[in-house]
Amino acid sequence: MAVKGRFAPTPSGRMHLGNLLSALLAWLDVRSQGGVMALRMEDLDPQRTSLERADQIADDLRWLGLDWDEGGVEPAWCQSSRGAYYQAAFEKLQDMGLVYPCYCSRAERLAANAPHRADGSMVYDGRCARLTLEERADLERSGRRPAWRVRVPEEWVTVMDGHLGPYTQYLPRDCGDFILRRSDGVWAYQLAVVVDDALMGVNHVVRGDDLLPSAPRQVWLHRVLGYQPPQFFHLPLLVDGQGRRLSKRDRDLDLSALRAQYSPREVTGYLAWLAGLNPERKSVEPAQLISRFSWAKVPKTEIVAGVP
Ligand code: GLU
Repeated sequence: MAVKGRFAPTPSGRMHLGNLLSALLAWLDVRSQGGVMALRMEDLDPQRTSLERADQIADDLRWLGLDWDEGGVEPAWCQSSRGAYYQAAFEKLQDMGLVYPCYCSRAERLAANAPHRADGSMVYDGRCARLTLEERADLERSGRRPAWRVRVPEEWVTVMDGHLGPYTQYLPRDCGDFILRRSDGVWAYQLAVVVDDALMGVNHVVRGDDLLPSAPRQVWLHRVLGYQPPQFFHLPLLVDGQGRRLSKRDRDLDLSALRAQYSPREVTGYLAWLAGLNPERKSVEPAQLISRFSWAKVPKTEIVAGVP
């Protein structure tokens, strides 16, 4: 089967060097196997994302020399326009009896969370799953609007990551019942990403390892909805000299700063060197890296990066 990969940024700001590394490796993974590359915009949250930012991301990718065969900033590939697909999957889960309303406010949710997991996030204790119909009706009458959660089974899920190897979670302990739709109606990333990867025929998912803890629940959701889960490849995130993950706060490494100071070939050369694809740090074009790409060369632990 032909490889189909995607880059799926959230257009909530300018990309930084770390986002660019994910995009480059997703592209190389596809291009080195003669596959199909797609670009999808994960603009679910209207408060945080915008079409202007999506256009800017597409422009930054083209600037670097990356292209895609499908998708881009067009409605069929922007999650903000794909609600009908998420609704259909949601109803399927509802029909299976797996969905329940959660009336916890954010403060209550934090209080209702079990102790922190290893990655610092928290597991919902499932208290709203135990509400009686009367209690739900009372809450509705008092004006509360629920978020919607999916009930996870007592299952162990192992993801065979193509880069990092096996990664296992026991869903009730390590994941917990998670949100499919927020109380303001916004669809959750966890549902949208699964539905989209499945319906778009994506079979290779390359992304940062901050999303590794999300992979088991996504694999489970794929299976429950009758889809074939993709092969995942998680790559280590870039960190600064103090070991902090690069984020949108690091303005000197965002694309507006990088484009002002460096050529696309210099930035690609720096990324290729960080990713172990070039022994030295020299300018290169993405297309020149295709024949050199192999997951075996890419580091598995945090990559320290600074200004190129
Ligand atoms: N939209 C997510 C992000 O920008 C990536 C989702 C994914 O690759 O699964 O962090």
